[in-house]
Amino acid sequence: MIQITMPLNFLGSVYREIRQALVDMGEMFDLLEQPAEIQDKPGAAPIRVNGGAVSFDNVAFGYDPERPILKGISLDVQPGQKVAIVGPSGSGKSTIGRLMFRFYDVTDGAIRIDGQDVRDVTQDSLHAQIGVVPQDTVLFNDTIRYNIAYGRDGASQADIEAAARSAQIHDFITSLPEGYDTAVGERGLKLSGGEKQRVGIARTLLKNPPILLLDEATSALDTETERGIQTALERAGEGRTVLTIAHRLSTIADADRIVVLEDGHIVEDGTHADLLSRGGRYAGLWARQEAEAA
Ligand code: ADP
Ligand code: MG
Repeated sequence: MIQITMPLNFLGSVYREIRQALVDMGEMFDLLEQPAEIQDKPGAAPIRVNGGAVSFDNVAFGYDPERPILKGISLDVQPGQKVAIVGPSGSGKSTIGRLMFRFYDVTDGAIRIDGQDVRDVTQDSLHAQIGVVPQDTVLFNDTIRYNIAYGRDGASQADIEAAARSAQIHDFITSLPEGYDTAVGERGLKLSGGEKQRVGIARTLLKNPPILLLDEATSALDTETERGIQTALERAGEGRTVLTIAHRLSTIADADRIVVLEDGHIVEDGTHADLLSRGGRYAGLWARQEAEAA
């Protein structure tokens, strides 16, 4: 009996870990559905990123040719700029992130990072430049150290601690009896949603990516916890280009720029104050959320 159940259990746990690794990225990118036709061009060179400018040049895209999702998106994000993308559920916000990562190719137009078309560079090098914090961070059944270090091969303890400090989780970790060696995940210490997100932020920061993509990174948290994480995210964004896809508008009110996506188009683009005084879509969304919060 033992001979049979042991290997099966072992295989089961390996399978679960592999699945979790996929789910981790897949949360945002539907990795399991990633079409195989996205291949590096023969002789593609690694991307060279300095400032991390992101440019969407008249981008059109649909998962299904019959159903366009983005219908001519033009957006120039300056190096270091903090841009928030808002819009109704299903309007294509996460799709913008997936296209930037080149999980799909645009139907029309182009996406360039520091002037290089994402179709002309190696995917590995592209992915290394973009750090993602998804809605839910999935933890491996391993130590906290492993869960953070997963952001970069060969990270030193000093690098891991620096990332954890920026994500404002270092003090919490060192308060645990086993510190960085504490086992977490399903079979270890259960972390709260906010703690998990901080581990996810630390993991992403360890990559030290010039571009950060936050896809509703705090939308699964209660407002109180969200407020705490907000500071960690602001620190994480320092010196990087940041695209934030937001659900609660209160979290993006001080972005350099807010773009409103609707029906495949950018319908508004400006600061919080600009858009409020315009009295359009954003002002309407803002008023609704204020009323809900009251
Ligand atoms: P948002 O993030 O703004 O809520 P998404 O970018 O995730 O919206 O999705 C935009 C639209 O594309 C939605 O209608 C969604 O159903 C559709 N969609 C998303 N992913 C896929 C996919 N892998 N295959 C087909 N349709 C998809
Ligand atoms: Mg989304």
